[in-house]
Amino acid sequence: MARKLVYRCYCGFAAEGEEDELVVVLTSHAFDVHQMTVSREQVLAMAVPVAE
Ligand SMILES: [Zn+2]
Repeated sequence: MARKLVYRCYCGFAAEGEEDELVVVLTSHAFDVHQMTVSREQVLAMAVPVAE
């Protein structure tokens, strides 16, 4: 099973999911809300594992 990660944006937006899901959600959030383009590496660098 893929581990779950959580990402909290500085704007208050939070998303959690598996790596691939999170990258899709966050690149779209960053672009739509912040007009920023983030790479997969940047998303994963700021995501933390969800505590079980
Ligand atoms: Zn945000």
